[in-house]
Amino acid sequence: MEDHRGRAARALAGAQAQGAEALVVASAPNRRYLSGFSGSAGVVLIADGRRWLLTDFRYLEQAEREAPAYEIVPIQRQVWQQVAALAGEVGARRIGFEAEHWTVAQWRRAVSEAPGVEWVETAGVVEALRVVKSPEELQRMATAARIADEALAQVALILRPGLRERDLSLHLEAKMRELGAEGVAFPTIVASGPRGSLPHGLASDRKLEPGELVTIDFGAVYQGYHSDETVTWALAGDHPERARLREVYEVVRAAQAAGLAAVRPGVAASAVDRAARQVIEEAGYGAEFGHSTGHGVGLEVHEAPWASSHPTRDWTLQPDMVITVEPGIYLPGLGGVRLEDTVVVTQDGYRRLTQADKAWREW
Ligand code: ZN
Ligand code: ZN
Repeated sequence: MEDHRGRAARALAGAQAQGAEALVVASAPNRRYLSGFSGSAGVVLIADGRRWLLTDFRYLEQAEREAPAYEIVPIQRQVWQQVAALAGEVGARRIGFEAEHWTVAQWRRAVSEAPGVEWVETAGVVEALRVVKSPEELQRMATAARIADEALAQVALILRPGLRERDLSLHLEAKMRELGAEGVAFPTIVASGPRGSLPHGLASDRKLEPGELVTIDFGAVYQGYHSDETVTWALAGDHPERARLREVYEVVRAAQAAGLAAVRPGVAASAVDRAARQVIEEAGYGAEFGHSTGHGVGLEVHEAPWASSHPTRDWTLQPDMVITVEPGIYLPGLGGVRLEDTVVVTQDGYRRLTQADKAWREW
């Protein structure tokens, strides 16, 4: 069982540092992180020494079971009035909310239901806690990655020209579910041939052709935690641009290796981006690598820390942070290559969670 009391105490300290006396958390991943509750509706309220989870009739039994560190409160008609009354029990009047997750309409509703409360904008409070993973979280993420890798190995058995991208994604997703995934981390990306230049090309009806590349970006969810990995495979056969595709592949592979080699505690996440990007720029493909090198993974498939060349906030890597390294080169009309692994920062480097071989492979 995760230390939900400790997490709540740290979240409250973070909210206090932003001027609040209590904190409400309604975004699903943050609510789950703080309480263990996996339902789709509810509000966590944390104030001096107290923890409440307000949820509706559908979830009361589940909430009692999943969130034993919390007092479970049935939601009545005006939830923000209830929140104000509970916070008032410990004298808290300045209640922090997640400014990045609330809509203007939600904020208006809170203000009108609880006019005596001073609603304080907070940002990134729980997200900042989530970047460093617990042993249990790392275990779940390793399981998600293993399921995805096993499913990929099965899909390799059916890979051949004539198969539709959609068949490939269906097979991969079904295998992940069979192997114990509770869902897919995101709609599977299968981008073959010229479609490979679409960094986020969802699987289409296009049929694979001999000699071309196919990029597969996929992930599983296990007990709330995501995996994220990309392979680019070559289909056997002749292709007029085969030599060029192979060259591009090796550039991306070298870039990924350079990015991974930069991963260790004390290094800025932006330095991981720079290491990978430099290899691609030196090979003359800088303009064809138009996205960030990596991102954190956890209860969400994209979360902090961000490994970007223009970070709005840079992150210093610490042990037990999880980050992807996924450079790519995209050539409109020709195709593309992306290689992605999800790794855990260790005391002296990194450990891969995703295991598929990233060397050039022909099928
Ligand atoms: Zn991915
Ligand atoms: Zn990714």
